[in-house]
Amino acid sequence: MKRVLRWLGALLLLLLLGGGGALAYLLSHPSLAAYRGLELPARPGTGVRVTFLGTATLLFDDGETAFMTDGYFSRPSVWRVLLGKVAPDRARIAATLARAHVDRLAAVITLHSHIDHAMDSPEVALRTGALLVGSSSTANVGRGWGLPEERLRIVKGGESLRFGKFTVTVLRSQHSPHAVAPGEITAPLRPPVSALAYKEGGSFSLLVAHDGDARVVLVQGSAGFEPGALAGRHADVAFLASGALGKQGQAYREQYWQETVRSVGAQRAILIHWDDFMQPLDAPLVPMPRALDDFVAGTEALLGFGRRDHVEVRLPPLGVAFDPYAE
Ligand SMILES: [Zn+2]
Repeated sequence: MKRVLRWLGALLLLLLLGGGGALAYLLSHPSLAAYRGLELPARPGTGVRVTFLGTATLLFDDGETAFMTDGYFSRPSVWRVLLGKVAPDRARIAATLARAHVDRLAAVITLHSHIDHAMDSPEVALRTGALLVGSSSTANVGRGWGLPEERLRIVKGGESLRFGKFTVTVLRSQHSPHAVAPGEITAPLRPPVSALAYKEGGSFSLLVAHDGDARVVLVQGSAGFEPGALAGRHADVAFLASGALGKQGQAYREQYWQETVRSVGAQRAILIHWDDFMQPLDAPLVPMPRALDDFVAGTEALLGFGRRDHVEVRLPPLGVAFDPYAE
């Protein structure tokens, strides 16, 4: 009997160790090392500059006017996201804005209302005097954080917004498939709340044009698409969300590429939203953990499409201004 118990104990220990190993593997990050060469060079210069600040957060600045997509900086840990409650981290938000030299923004445009896009948007808007632009769900994130009604601009898709010399066209899009937390946020959302309270609320693509430049940028903030939504539109450069693409089949990846980059005729795709959004921004970015994405598979697929279609596939540098059109 004692021997049986000892044997069962050993088996249980093995199972626990094996399970722990599997969990550690799923939470581990693929290496970015092989793709470092894809990073565009930092180039302050003049004209339209973009600063990538992790996930789908992009700062656009022409020296006179600046606006930002999403503005997600709190990046609570995986355990807090899975098991606890989340709220904007004012210290992290302030520190990241200071590092990026952001004090005034015309707008924060939230691409959809999941935590890693919308949670910090109202705090960024409050700190920078910005208008918060997004879905009715995003507006409820803003209301819940005390942003006054006159600072909210609800969009449905199809609107053209002017910020200084920038024209931003908002287009209806779709989230990447099988996302957690679908649906709408129908009442002001007051954090701390479960991460799942940040429901998608509809997704948008943006086309960013500038009076001083004939070229256009597409921002695709989630690896999904509305079929035909970008047909007849033009962009020179596409900021392309690639996160979770590694978990999709090759047919889906091809369709996503066709409906975004190819549809607008972009010559360059700059990959965003591939980083682990549960790691703080003051360390170098790492790709999403293996449980959420297969970074290598997704990136290799896009690089292959790029070689075939003569589209340059690049990565953005983190936290420094660069010229998205740089030769
Ligand atoms: Zn999302």
